[in-house]
Amino acid sequence: MKVLVCGGAGYIGSHTCVALIEQGHEVVIYDNLCHGSLSAVDHIRQLSGADVRFVQGDVRDKAALESVLSSGFDAVVHFAALKIMSESCRLPLLYFDNNVAGTIALLQAMQATGVHRLVFSSTAAVYGDPDVVPIKEDAPLRACNPYSHTKLVMERLIQELCEARPSFSAAILRYFNPAGAHPSGLMGEDTGGVPSNLMPYVSQVAAGMQDRLHVFGGDYPTRDGTGVRDYIHVMDLADAHTKALDVLRVGGCHVLNIGTGRGYSVLEVVSAFERISGRRVPYEIVDRRPGDVAEVWADPSHAQETLGWHAQHDLLRMCADAWRWQSMHPHGYQSAQVIELRQAMPSGSCR
Ligand code: NAD
Ligand code: UDP
Repeated sequence: MKVLVCGGAGYIGSHTCVALIEQGHEVVIYDNLCHGSLSAVDHIRQLSGADVRFVQGDVRDKAALESVLSSGFDAVVHFAALKIMSESCRLPLLYFDNNVAGTIALLQAMQATGVHRLVFSSTAAVYGDPDVVPIKEDAPLRACNPYSHTKLVMERLIQELCEARPSFSAAILRYFNPAGAHPSGLMGEDTGGVPSNLMPYVSQVAAGMQDRLHVFGGDYPTRDGTGVRDYIHVMDLADAHTKALDVLRVGGCHVLNIGTGRGYSVLEVVSAFERISGRRVPYEIVDRRPGDVAEVWADPSHAQETLGWHAQHDLLRMCADAWRWQSMHPHGYQSAQVIELRQAMPSGSCR
């Protein structure tokens, strides 16, 4: 298939581009680079060996999208969104405009150009604080911050469109906690400074860039008192997207949990990371972070039945790949650029 990857210069999008190309698809990346990076695009080209086309553009720009899509595409994979929960509480208008208005413009452009297959990035955050774990797709939806609300609105939009236009098919993938990096160490999550997610923060502590991890809450009703999450390797996520595209050949609208089905506590992640990196990860238990819940993990059996997909990488592998990325790119893609620039300079010209 010829696939437009919106948000393909970001963390999950870049890994998915490589996986799509490996499966024989042709990829065009569309990204406004508000968070993504041209270095990620370069590494996609390097890892895949394909001369991938990159278009800098905003998904809210319907005319620009129509112009790109009118050259003939089979499907769109839509990652382009703002994703930081705490920021969404401060800037709800920005989040609804970027995420929801962007998705409306994209769906309109797809309709206008006859592109009828969509894979959409949703999140387990739509379940909020679940009544039971593991979580099935028909669990109550309890988005509890503007970011998760935008995802619920977008899910609903896509579902309504599939109902109204049976030629339109979609896979809505609810990711649990993405982690890890490409095994080459060339691609990973560029957090652009101090990370808010657990695994990149632990990586920076192990690297000595942060003095300790703040463990948010030691009094949850879990096996060791710390929060439990379902960490899923970004390479497994990428694989789920390629399999979702295959399923869309036969139509329908599918909502699928993409997780491993196993939860790990914060302290279990710390211990796995120490084992893999050979470094100490000092931590201090502090107050709970507002909005966090005790335990979240997926029942991924629907994805197994529908896509023939299941996660192949375990927590140790996520830690190993995250650590390799951290060691090779201590400051994200910026450090890669500095190294490349230094290599390109005549000797003696760089201080
Ligand atoms: P990311 O920020 O690394 O990637 C998002 C990409 O979209 C970036 O390259 C950014 O420049 C681009 N983008 C954002 N708004 C855009 C716009 N208006 N027009 C064009 N491009 C735009 O994030 P990620 O972690 O790769 O997440 C990808 C998707 O997965 C997002 O939709 C996110 O909500 C969802 N998701 C992420 C996580 C996670 O923890 N990383 C968890 C669940 C769901
Ligand atoms: N967490 C933590 N310290 C941090 C970041 C996260 O203790 O610096 C905990 C958080 O409370 C949760 C788990 O790690 O229990 C995963 O948090 P993350 O922000 O990575 O993902 P979330 O599940 O909140 O989307």
